[in-house]
Amino acid sequence: MTDHGAVSIGERVFNFSPGPAVLPLEVLERAREELLALPGVGISVLEISHRSPAFDRILSETLSDLRTLLGVGDDHEVVFLQGGASLQFSMVPMNLLRGRTAAADYVVTGTWGATAIKEARREGKVHVAWDGKATNYDRLPEAGEISLSDAPAYVHITSNETIQGVQWKKEPDVGAAPLVCDCSSDFLSRPIDVGKYGLIYACAQKNAGIAGVTAVIIRKDLLERSRDDLPTMLDYRTHVTNGSRPNTPAVFAVYVLGLVCRWIRDTVGGLDSMARHNRGKAKVLYDVLDASGGFYTGHARPGVRSDMNVTFRLPDEATEKEFVKGATARGLVDLKGHRSVGGIRASIYNAMPMEGVTALRDYMLEFQQARQA
Ligand SMILES: *Cc1c(COP(=O)(O)O)cnc(C)c1O
Repeated sequence: MTDHGAVSIGERVFNFSPGPAVLPLEVLERAREELLALPGVGISVLEISHRSPAFDRILSETLSDLRTLLGVGDDHEVVFLQGGASLQFSMVPMNLLRGRTAAADYVVTGTWGATAIKEARREGKVHVAWDGKATNYDRLPEAGEISLSDAPAYVHITSNETIQGVQWKKEPDVGAAPLVCDCSSDFLSRPIDVGKYGLIYACAQKNAGIAGVTAVIIRKDLLERSRDDLPTMLDYRTHVTNGSRPNTPAVFAVYVLGLVCRWIRDTVGGLDSMARHNRGKAKVLYDVLDASGGFYTGHARPGVRSDMNVTFRLPDEATEKEFVKGATARGLVDLKGHRSVGGIRASIYNAMPMEGVTALRDYMLEFQQARQA
């Protein structure tokens, strides 16, 4: 057998990927330590039965840690599903809209919201309450710009549009309608007032762990809307009734989500502290854009800029290509923006350390200086 030795931290680059994304080093180290045998169990988490007492403990601790972090009250259930956030684009309207005469209202603030509404149209009546496409999703609606339908089945928003880099700072007022939120790219990055929501869903692989598990937080009264003709596995009630285990869950993904929750609680100090840290990191980069005299131009308008995905353009595409190439050579990787926006996207989720952000800042300053010399 070859001894590969430990991968030294020096080999890790700063990963600005939009997702799957950077994980806290402490979480990776813990997972590595426990990979061959969970303490006191003697079996890897990759091998244990999802019905074993060891996994009972992992699942129940992860659920309860998540509930405590977010302050989820008794009115809401929390379940872990598979199929990613994308499956929720369908499950939400299947469970909350199918068979109803009212429309579901969508506030479309970017690519993910546009993808969600497409799936909802298959299930029932849909109403576009606002759509920011005209300005390529660089802004959010002002109060008064959202036009709700009459007693909508629910109102769907995307708290952070990962591709365009626009983020709600506060929930819109939707009256009595249940507010449904795709929180995939800012879940656990800041506190959230769960009581204001009918349903929250988030895949884990941006801020909260690895691909394979999606958290759904649903107000209990909304479970009564699901119809009996739904496929069993697409009915929220199945997952609630069976405690997230109607079939084999993504055991390892749930385990990593649990490690991330513990990291936020014990190392970061909770979600207030997490949010302060994230805001501080984002400010470092937005300050560079604002002081660049137009060399770097942000995509999102000030006021709705995301703390998670910082999107910006350089003077032309050739310069952007060189920027990305030079960054990669310095160990600042995956900065190329999505093709629908172009330019650069720096995703600076929870686990991106401040050192990664300041390394990017220094590179941006040097790059501009060299170009304008
Ligand atoms: C990544 C992402 C998705 C898609 O998640 P999958 O788990 O790949 O289906 C949906 N919505 C938002 C806001 C995202 O950032």
